[in-house]
Amino acid sequence: MSVEPPRPLVAGNWKMNGLKAQTAVLTEILAGYVPALRSRVDLAICPPATLVGRFTEMAAGSAIGIGGQDCHAKAAGAFTGDLSAEMLADMGATYVLVGHSERRQYHGETDSEVAAKALAAHRAGLVAIVCIGETKDEREAGKTLDVVRTQLAGSVPDGSTSQNLIVAYEPVWAIGTGLTPTASDVEEVHAVIRASLGALVGAEEQGRVRILYGGSVKPSNAAELMAVPNVNGALVGGASLVAADFLGIANAYHA
Ligand code: PEP
Repeated sequence: MSVEPPRPLVAGNWKMNGLKAQTAVLTEILAGYVPALRSRVDLAICPPATLVGRFTEMAAGSAIGIGGQDCHAKAAGAFTGDLSAEMLADMGATYVLVGHSERRQYHGETDSEVAAKALAAHRAGLVAIVCIGETKDEREAGKTLDVVRTQLAGSVPDGSTSQNLIVAYEPVWAIGTGLTPTASDVEEVHAVIRASLGALVGAEEQGRVRILYGGSVKPSNAAELMAVPNVNGALVGGASLVAADFLGIANAYHA
């Protein structure tokens, strides 16, 4: 079934970077999100939790979404240091990343925990950006497609729709390394993700879910990567910390 490709999204993941002084970066991004760009692509920034409230105030009325980088599965409780999806929503966030490879790697998050977090995001009215991707060893062993299928099936909760789910394919070996898969490798993986979504969100929604590519996206490679079939935007780490680079990536959609 062919459907209109989803409207693209370029989302920035600031990771554990950003003090109050870096609000100037968001000011620059807001200024650069001119109507011609806004008509073609959605933008979002996921700053550290300490800046989410400030950023939602700054971005109010701009159509730039603000997101968290993680959330707990529970709405509230004795979980010192954690943050619930409801708290992010209360601060005005509209997105949350779940299952980023750094969470999987450094915090041992499993697919079922990621699915529980995505479900929490839905409960709180947030869009869950579910991250999946293979390691270098898995790619070299020819397991990429199996890994991606397994992670996707295990990390996407029941009740997901194109309105509350975005999938980000991020090969772990491409994150922060300057390395990227070839366009045809990205095309192959995104096609598998698209095909696998049918069983998770139903045939009607399958073609509408946004699938982002992430891993060393920069202005110089964005146009090529964003032109790949089934790539509906980018999840951007390092380059999202520099307004000109982030906007340069978004401008891949500004023909
Ligand atoms: C990320 O961390 O989600 C990411 C894609 O990082 P980078 O763009 O720096 O590779």
